[in-house]
Amino acid sequence: RKLGYAIVGLGGYGLGRIIPQFQNCQHSRLVALVSGDPAKARKVAQEYGVPERGIYSYSDFDRIRDNPDIDIVYICLPVFMHAEYTIRAAQAGKHVMCEKPMAINPAECEQMIAACRKAGKKLMIGYRSRFEPHNVEAIRLARAGAIGNLRYFRSEHGFVVGDANTWRMKKAQSGGGSMMDIGIYALQAARYMTGEEPVAVFAKETTNRSDPRFREVEDMIDFQLEFPSGAIGSCMSMYSANRNQFVLMGDKGRIELEPATAYSGQRMWVGQERSDKTEVKPPPGPYANQWVGQLDHMAQCVMQNREPLVPGEEGLRDIRIIEAVYRSAREQKRIVVQS
Ligand code: NAD
Repeated sequence: RKLGYAIVGLGGYGLGRIIPQFQNCQHSRLVALVSGDPAKARKVAQEYGVPERGIYSYSDFDRIRDNPDIDIVYICLPVFMHAEYTIRAAQAGKHVMCEKPMAINPAECEQMIAACRKAGKKLMIGYRSRFEPHNVEAIRLARAGAIGNLRYFRSEHGFVVGDANTWRMKKAQSGGGSMMDIGIYALQAARYMTGEEPVAVFAKETTNRSDPRFREVEDMIDFQLEFPSGAIGSCMSMYSANRNQFVLMGDKGRIELEPATAYSGQRMWVGQERSDKTEVKPPPGPYANQWVGQLDHMAQCVMQNREPLVPGEEGLRDIRIIEAVYRSAREQKRIVVQS
C-alpha cells in the first residue's frame, strides 16, 4: 500500500531532490503540490502524474483538508515558514514531514509538536542521513563496541555559499547562518554517533561582516560539546569552505566517514592502530537510497501507528543546542544546554 504525499515548496530540494524519488518508493506516492507559481505547479504535476485536484497555492493550502488522497504533507520551504505550514497541515488533519532545521527557535518547534499532538498526527524531521547505510552501520559499530569506549567525536561540515540575496542569508528567514543549515549535520551526527545528549557547549564564531554574504548570518562557527560520559565533540560549521566528514574515536579504534552526510558517495573506514585503517562497505539497507528510506519510513510509521525514528522532539533538541551554541559564541562562555 502507498500513502499520498503533498510536497510544499517546489524549490531546489523539494523539486530537485524529493519529488524524483517517489518512483523508487514502495509505500509512498506523490499526490499533491503546493506552490506560489501556478504555471510551474502545472508543469511539475504533468511531469509526475499529479492530478489537477492535487494542485494548491499557499493561500488555498488549507483546502488540503478535503483531499483524502493526501496522508502526509512534506514541508520543503525556507525555515521561517516551517512552523506555520506544519501547524496548518496538522490542523487540516494531515501527518507532517518537515525539513531541517526544524524551525527558527525552540518555541516554534514546541508549537509544531503541540499542534501535531493535538491533531493526533505524526511529525518527522527530514534527517535523511539516519537512513543512509554508512551512517546506519557506523552507529551499529559504535554501539556494538567496535572501537571501545567513545572518547572524541570530530566533524567539519561546510559548503561555499554564493548568492548573498537568498533566504539563507537573511537571519529572519533562516534563523542563522551555516550552523542552522549545514553545521546541524555535524551536531546531529555527534548525537547519533555517541548516543548521548550534550550537557554543555562552548562556541567561537568567525565571520567577515564586510563580506556581503555575511551581513546578517554567521560564516564559521567552531563548537565543542560536552557529553555526560566524558566524551567530547569538536565541530566546525562553515559557509566558506567545502567539507563533509566525521571521525568517532574510542579507546580501541576509530570510525571515519567522508563524505559523511552528503547526497551520495559516502565512504567509511575503521582503524584500530594509529595509522592503519580499513575501508568498510556497509550492508545494503532496506531502501533504494536515503530519501526513499525517509519517505517510506514515515509512510510505514503512519500505517503501523509507530513513532518515527526522527520525530519533532529530535528536531527540537538540535534547535535547543544550536541556541546554546549561538549564545556561547555571543557571550564567549560555556553554556549549559537546557534539556
Ligand atoms: P529553495 O530556496 O531552493 O526553495 C524554497 C522554496 O520555497 C521555493 O520554491 C520558493 O518559491 C518557496 N517559497 C515560498 N514562499 C517563499 C518565501 N516567502 N521566500 C522564499 N521562498 C519561498 O530552498 P531549498 O534549498 O529547497 O530549501 C528548502 C528547505 O529544505 C529548507 O528548510 C532547507 O534547509 C531544506 N533542505 C534540506 C536539505 C537536506 O539535504 N535535507 C537540502 C537542501 C535544503
